[in-house]
Amino acid sequence: MIRKIDKKTVDEVLRAAYDHCKSETSGKNADYIPFLKNVPSTLFGIAATLPDGTLLTVGDTDYRFGIESVSKVPTALLVMEQYSDREVLHKIGADATGLPFNSIMAILLENDHPSTPLVNAGAIAACSMVKPAGDSTGKWRAIVDFLTALAGSPVEVIDELYRSESDTNFNNRSIAWLLKNYNRIYDQPEMALDLYTRQCSIGVTAAQLATVAATIANGGVNPQTGKRVFRAELTPRIVSLMATVGFYEHTGDWLFQTGLPAKSGVGGGIMGVVPGVMGLASFAPPLDSAGNSVRAQKALAYIARELDLNLFGTTRCMVTTPASAGV
Ligand code: GLN
Repeated sequence: MIRKIDKKTVDEVLRAAYDHCKSETSGKNADYIPFLKNVPSTLFGIAATLPDGTLLTVGDTDYRFGIESVSKVPTALLVMEQYSDREVLHKIGADATGLPFNSIMAILLENDHPSTPLVNAGAIAACSMVKPAGDSTGKWRAIVDFLTALAGSPVEVIDELYRSESDTNFNNRSIAWLLKNYNRIYDQPEMALDLYTRQCSIGVTAAQLATVAATIANGGVNPQTGKRVFRAELTPRIVSLMATVGFYEHTGDWLFQTGLPAKSGVGGGIMGVVPGVMGLASFAPPLDSAGNSVRAQKALAYIARELDLNLFGTTRCMVTTPASAGV
């Protein structure tokens, strides 16, 4: 069954979600990356980008925060675009590990069996695959240009965050070299690690993330710029990865409750994709034990419930433009 709603309804639900969640104070900022510990914990924003490019926002949606693991989504798409989805399945895989995002045990357990580009190991492997091979500057340009095209506006690294991550990423260094040991990294390990660290340190706003999500929801065409960023057939691929591992070891609980494919980052951002319907994002720094923003999860769960966004449900909502509203 299709439920038609208009933009005003989406806007009202976003505002209601904000009011419903603004007093939620549980969770705490990531502190293993020193920069993130000092981001104000009270920041909170929600944004939605609709298929006609309309951006709806409430709260702190212009604040630039570290994209962190949400960056794994664009880079996974980039390598699927540069190679093919089959090649990424073969070289990295699409299986959830059920373990924390930075798990070394997952690599040891599955050394003969690839994992997914949405955990650290797979994301570092994805960075190693980015073309042009062996060219750190060229690879970085490809990553930034791709994210910029998805967002429809420029993004850049937060230098202090990049330094903070580079100074403390010992676990990720081990991951890069362990991947090398198992022939699961496809360029120089240190270069792939640095690209991964830099992409995690890119600053984005919730408004930009909502548009990245909307471009994915829209089959690869950015609804604001009208430009095709990736092949339409990659939308179901990336959405399936988000659905299976977007919240790491809490992914099943999240999907069970919301049916909303989404990806979190330890900077406090979460991006949700409803294919054919809209892109959503929320940002609030305090995290749960798996590294997912508590307030942003609560806000997106509220919106998914109110707007019937559950992908597994029998009712799907469709956002109408004013001319077709109520038809
Ligand atoms: N840069 C972070 C890390 O590698 C990203 C983790 C995350 O957002 N879940 O630890």
